[in-house]
Amino acid sequence: MAELFYEKDADLSLIQGKKVAIVGYGSQGHAHAQNLRDSGVEVRVALRLGSNSTAKAEADGFTVMTVADATKWADLIMILAPDQHQRGIYAEDIAPYLTEGKTLAFAHGFNIRFGYITPPAGVDVILIAPKAPGHTVRREFVAGRGIPDIIAVEQDASGEAWEVAKAYAKGIGGTRAGVIKTTFTEETETDLFGEQSVLCGGTSRLIQYGFEVLTEAGYQPEIAYFEVLHELKLIVDLIHEGGITKQRWSVSDTAEYGDYVSGPRIIDASVKERMKDVLTDIQTGVFAKRFIDDQDNGAVEFKNLRMEGESHPIETTGRELRKLFAWQDAKDSDYVDGQTA
Ligand code: NDP
Ligand code: MG
Ligand code: MG
Repeated sequence: MAELFYEKDADLSLIQGKKVAIVGYGSQGHAHAQNLRDSGVEVRVALRLGSNSTAKAEADGFTVMTVADATKWADLIMILAPDQHQRGIYAEDIAPYLTEGKTLAFAHGFNIRFGYITPPAGVDVILIAPKAPGHTVRREFVAGRGIPDIIAVEQDASGEAWEVAKAYAKGIGGTRAGVIKTTFTEETETDLFGEQSVLCGGTSRLIQYGFEVLTEAGYQPEIAYFEVLHELKLIVDLIHEGGITKQRWSVSDTAEYGDYVSGPRIIDASVKERMKDVLTDIQTGVFAKRFIDDQDNGAVEFKNLRMEGESHPIETTGRELRKLFAWQDAKDSDYVDGQTA
């Protein structure tokens, strides 16, 4: 059984006693910075010169510093810039000032697991990974709840790395929900596998194909949108609450029977075999190399794929439909529906 930690297992004063630099003020960055500050931690935000995020962090009341200055100032440096930029930020602006006794922290183990960042001995290296998008991490904290975190220690020079990781998790609200102990390797490999095969990759493709089959057969795109995309959330909510069993309990017997007989025709054993291939590419570093090489090459493949995804007909249908219905209360002020990045 996995080892779990709750409020009583973590000592907030350990993180309250540290100066914390949050590098990046995006999805995770704004949530960590604001949650920690609300937990009584001294936080500063670290950004590159001329960063688009500076105005936002300052408007939220934070002192913004360069990454180099923040690293000199801080006891704990949490890197919350995009994974593909962390290696460069670390080499130029963190490593030269990362003196003994400081703590380097991550919310995803990518750069440590695949060897893009190698911190010196004498520095604690910890991971606190909330299992939700940053905006949800903040929203739940404000509502008095928390998002489960998983935590790990790669290097424990001080002997108190685990305690600091737990305290940090408490500071961002994680122990309100529950925190699970893991390793950098397990977090990185399972996180990438989950998002690639089920959460993002698998689900997106399933939705797009479902929409294509219905519209190509002559059904109205708006109806297809509701059947294969909109309702997915309602189904996922039930699965989240009580597993697949609760979802099957709630849907009609017709839907449940269709699930049993048609599900395996769509997602057959060959899918599982290809999931294993995806996992192998993650474990061997093939995926990481492809991602980083493309990023180093100006993200040509990445940007093309993003454009291709955004131009799928279901996106156009959805944008128009969401304007017309009342359920959609735009919650994240910095997301514009239909924006192209
Ligand atoms: P974002 O893409 O939201 O981060 C953007 C922020 O990073 C901006 O403030 C941006 O500033 C800053 N940034 C970009 N480049 C640099 C740079 N060279 N120097 C300094 N700051 C820079 O990142 P996420 O929050 O999505 O991810 C951060 C980490 O958290 C990753 O390791 C990710 O895997 C992990 N994670 C993310 C989750 C999520 O919810 N998104 C969930 C769990 C973990 P600027 O305005 O200058 O571009
Ligand atoms: Mg991830
Ligand atoms: Mg239906």
